[in-house]
Amino acid sequence: MVTGAVAANSVLALRARTVLTLAGEGPARGKELFAPLKKTDNGVLVVRNGIVENALPWREYSPPPQALVRDIGDVCLAPGCVNAHTHLNLSHLVRRAVFHRGFVAWLESLLPLLAEPVSPESHRQTLLDACADMAGAGTAHAGDFCGRVNVNPGIKPVHEAGRACGLELTHFCEWLGYAPPLNDGVYPWPAHCRADADSPQYGERCAPCGHSLYSTLPQTLREIRRFCSSRGKIFSFHLAESPEEEQMLTSGDGPLRDLYARLLPGNWRPPGLRPLDYAAELGLLGPGTLAVHGVRLSVGDMARLAASGAALCLCPRSNKNLGLGLPPARELMESGVLLCLGTDGLTSNDDLDVRGEAVCLREILDLPPEALVRLLTVNAAAALGLGNVGRLTPGSAAKFCILPESLAF
Ligand SMILES: [Zn+2]
Repeated sequence: MVTGAVAANSVLALRARTVLTLAGEGPARGKELFAPLKKTDNGVLVVRNGIVENALPWREYSPPPQALVRDIGDVCLAPGCVNAHTHLNLSHLVRRAVFHRGFVAWLESLLPLLAEPVSPESHRQTLLDACADMAGAGTAHAGDFCGRVNVNPGIKPVHEAGRACGLELTHFCEWLGYAPPLNDGVYPWPAHCRADADSPQYGERCAPCGHSLYSTLPQTLREIRRFCSSRGKIFSFHLAESPEEEQMLTSGDGPLRDLYARLLPGNWRPPGLRPLDYAAELGLLGPGTLAVHGVRLSVGDMARLAASGAALCLCPRSNKNLGLGLPPARELMESGVLLCLGTDGLTSNDDLDVRGEAVCLREILDLPPEALVRLLTVNAAAALGLGNVGRLTPGSAAKFCILPESLAF
């Protein structure tokens, strides 16, 4: 029988071919991304009561009598990953939208699906399944865009699913649409999240966010960016994802403009600027901003984004599935932008395992594992304002993952 005293002082020792802790590592930009990572070959990670106690060479370790010692084999053990961008409350629409035919074809196929009825129980189960899959794959924390859906609205169902699975979440409450905001004292929180904004359980980890430059009222984008800055919250929005976005913003026409025609106000005029320039003009860039995608960025855009101090989350498998190509990840790494990775949601990706984004960039663009592991851990933690997450530092929660072999050391 396990007594309370033993359970309260449990020791787990995990021996692996390689242990990477990223202890002492800060967020990395430019050349820093490519520096070697400190590793322990034939190492052991020692966990006491769920908290990291130490990481050391196996030959130097003497387990205490109560230790549960496990050899997890010929693998590389690393900190739990941070998925900086997903859409959990759309998980019930997995594999329903059209892939590989461009952004507008994907969006046209998605819009009617959003209106389909789904039972609260079934939707709640898909939230739980998605969170369990993420946590099981070694994701410690995710940044989640909570859009308006016609079932289980708001943050609470997502938060509860994450908590049930041991997945920590940062919630971004998404504004979508051109309706003018209500001057009701709760603005700039979108209507579907207003009840959650002051939650004692998760209000601190909530922030309003914008959907994009072409689908959210510019005044709202400006005000939520200002609000987030003043509260020390991260401001996030989709940026420079597709050629159709660029066309709509620069010339005011094209298939995305046609798709949004009935939603746009009668006095809508294109800003006549490319996405990055328009975001800068609206004052959306700077420290504390997390832009998402960046597929359509020029070298000049990258330099401007890097200089602003904003972070950028890449979602390469989502971009690839929609037929948009890959973001210019190597050039972005060299530009000095603070980069991280996200899966996007199950409406555009095959799964929510963010390690898959790094594997995609490793296999297709031959990017080095040192840089990709930093994107998965310390950089994503910084982009979400999470302090010491993404490291196996003594005293930190013992959240870890096994790196896929193409990323391993
Ligand atoms: Zn997204």
